[in-house]
Amino acid sequence: MATALITGSSRGIGAAIALRLAEDGFDIALNDLSDSMFEGNDIIEKIKEKGVSCEYFCADVSSHSQCEEMVKAVKERFGSIDVLVNNAGITKDGLMARMSEEQYDMVINVNQKSVFNMMKHAGKIMMKQRSGRIINVASVAGLYGNPGQVNYSASKAAIVGMTKTVAKELGSRGINVNAVAPGFIKTPMTDALTEEQRNAMLNLIAMKRYGLPEEIASVVSFLASKDSSYVTGQVIEISGGLMM
Ligand code: NAP
Repeated sequence: MATALITGSSRGIGAAIALRLAEDGFDIALNDLSDSMFEGNDIIEKIKEKGVSCEYFCADVSSHSQCEEMVKAVKERFGSIDVLVNNAGITKDGLMARMSEEQYDMVINVNQKSVFNMMKHAGKIMMKQRSGRIINVASVAGLYGNPGQVNYSASKAAIVGMTKTVAKELGSRGINVNAVAPGFIKTPMTDALTEEQRNAMLNLIAMKRYGLPEEIASVVSFLASKDSSYVTGQVIEISGGLMM
């Protein structure tokens, strides 16, 4: 059985991706920051109901050593890492003039450095396997910018460059590296926005509705499948026509 490791997968988009890849037949390695994911969270049971194995690996993806340990543990438990989805991400919004250095560094470390940490360690295993799929979760903020998110936009724009670079480095080893760039998706992250911010965003979306986590998961499913075997180094925007 092939294995998919999804970072930040206790809720939101990550949980939807984990469930979809379980439906596709992958054994699932879940990751999150803290054991609090177990409080009232039935994601592990839901995944196991799909008939696959599922295990939770607690690690802070901004830590290089914790990523190394997690990748080692997943390989020991499942025998391979066939799909890596770098989904974990945070926001610490504020206008640049008021943004602290700590606010900036935290978002860069969790959203961007984590992708280096995970691709480096899981990539080693995939290189030995001579196969693998890496899917990085970027954002439209990284493609077009977004006021109040200089830290977040920087981290997501970097993911685009990293995706293309690592696709070039690992392509000859049978490893495909792609990114998805979600627009405005209904999750706990966006629930934190004000009504005014939400309405302003809605006006810009051609489809006049927010996306669902499942609509990101279906594109990730395609990028993890044989159907995308000749797709690499690409960024697929999933935004209901936010920008065209
Ligand atoms: P979310 O609901 O806030 O979930 C984020 C997940 O990442 C949580 O499970 C969180 O764990 C985990 N996480 C945070 N920091 C971590 C760390 N240091 N190590 C390991 N796990 C960590 O967010 P979401 O809306 O599903 O977003 C998922 C991804 O999509 C992010 O990369 C985000 O930037 C991107 N995205 C989202 C949207 C959107 O509209 N929602 C749009 C574009 C891009 P805890 O529960 O412990 O905090």
